[in-house]
Amino acid sequence: MESTLRRTWAEIDLDALEHNYRALRKQMGPKSRFLGVVKADSYGHGAIHVSRTLAELGAEYLAISNIDEARELRLHGVTLPILQLGLTPADQTANVIANHVTQAVWSERAAEAFSAQAVKAGGRMKAHIKLDTGMSRLGFQCDGEHFQASVDAICRVCALPGLDVEGIFTHFAVSDEAAEDCKEYTLLQHSRFEAMIAALADRGVHFRICHCANSGATVSYPQFAHDMFRPGIITYGIGDQADALGLKPLMTLKTTVGVIKDFTPGTTISYGRTFRAGRPSRVGVLPIGYADGLHRALSNKWRVWTPGGFAPITGRICMDMCMVDLTDLPDVQEGDEVDVYGPHNSVNDAARLAGTISYELTCAVSKRVPRIYFRHGREIDRELLLRD
Ligand SMILES: *Cc1c(COP(=O)(O)O)cnc(C)c1O
Repeated sequence: MESTLRRTWAEIDLDALEHNYRALRKQMGPKSRFLGVVKADSYGHGAIHVSRTLAELGAEYLAISNIDEARELRLHGVTLPILQLGLTPADQTANVIANHVTQAVWSERAAEAFSAQAVKAGGRMKAHIKLDTGMSRLGFQCDGEHFQASVDAICRVCALPGLDVEGIFTHFAVSDEAAEDCKEYTLLQHSRFEAMIAALADRGVHFRICHCANSGATVSYPQFAHDMFRPGIITYGIGDQADALGLKPLMTLKTTVGVIKDFTPGTTISYGRTFRAGRPSRVGVLPIGYADGLHRALSNKWRVWTPGGFAPITGRICMDMCMVDLTDLPDVQEGDEVDVYGPHNSVNDAARLAGTISYELTCAVSKRVPRIYFRHGREIDRELLLRD
């Protein structure tokens, strides 16, 4: 669907993606495969264009967390191997196989269900064994008490019919945090990961692809490169560690100054009357609100970047609009473009003010915000995500 635009839109810089991809590959060395994490529509950046660009650049694998996300990529011509990191109901096994998806297998019971369905469908499902080394989410538990039972279970899983177990992986809980206890915990998780791989090798069970490094580990523990690494947030040039590797943000969220109004002192702005003009004020109404992904928690906190400089958000952010103070920016006019997040005002800072993480703010940029893609310095596509 083509967009009519000029309200609110997100510009996605695929040249920044190329820059980040090259920097990350350099960081992890030539032997480790690059798995691009494109779940949640590439953290809101648009999975089809991001995946196509990563494929063109030489990435070896992609990952999503919902089987329909993989179907969407296949429908749009993406042929790279895709790892489904998340939970898939076993009755979707035929779908997994038909879409050439590699499924994470998190328990023996799940493996048995996938195996039975794959046999019934007359196919083989590619699988990666998921280890829980301390995240306490999906996976075979690897702490002392559970270790031996998991070794035995994984050996049985690898012998099940209808499964082609290609890889084994784990996920870190605090690899992006610098505190000493976080480092200790990450090293503990990694030692459990290696111990499990070694114990399985002793039983004659080997894996073609072992992988563990998310963004945090890619920045801080490049020695965990193994056969593949799985950077998500830093691929998009955001998160608190993106600067450490000189990465560039892909997304600039843009809107326009819709209307400018003059208010007398004492006038209150927006729902709840949480902002009161303390002086004669020039206020801009912007066509972006929380339904576009601008979190309401940023009310009276965030500032947008106008051609004249920063303009603070005044009063509560509404569903479709918000107001900004332009009193000190007399040159800003109706129709001017403003950056909600961009090179001058990082989504990382907005996330901190909203009490969350940048992941949540880019994922929240909603489907009614058209994405405009740039490659080799030129606009290549406009995408509106509303139903056709
Ligand atoms: C989301 C996810 C990643 C990527 O995490 P980032 O923090 O964005 O790098 C890697 N592995 C798994 C299993 C994930 O769920």
